Amino acid sequence: MSQPPDEDALCRALLLELSRYLDGELTPARCKQIEQHIGSCTGCTTMAARLRETMDVCRAAREQHLPADVRERARARIKALLEE
Ligand SMILES: [Zn+2]
Repeated sequence: MSQPPDEDALCRALLLELSRYLDGELTPARCKQIEQHIGSCTGCTTMAARLRETMDVCRAAREQHLPADVRERARARIKALLEE
């Protein structure tokens, strides 16, 4: 289940984008693209399982403004994954 390094870089870039999304810097359409990548990428499927709350946040953010503490938790989780 190993991935080529460039794919790993892509996935990390995606995580960074997700973090930016939580800051309101990405469009919901871009968030949808991210979710689609996660659906087709083994590494990101595993990651998404650990980021379940964050992905729910991503989804919810399209509907409504998120409480700051929810955004903060999601961002902290993404940061932890990026630093692994
Ligand atoms: Zn991926």
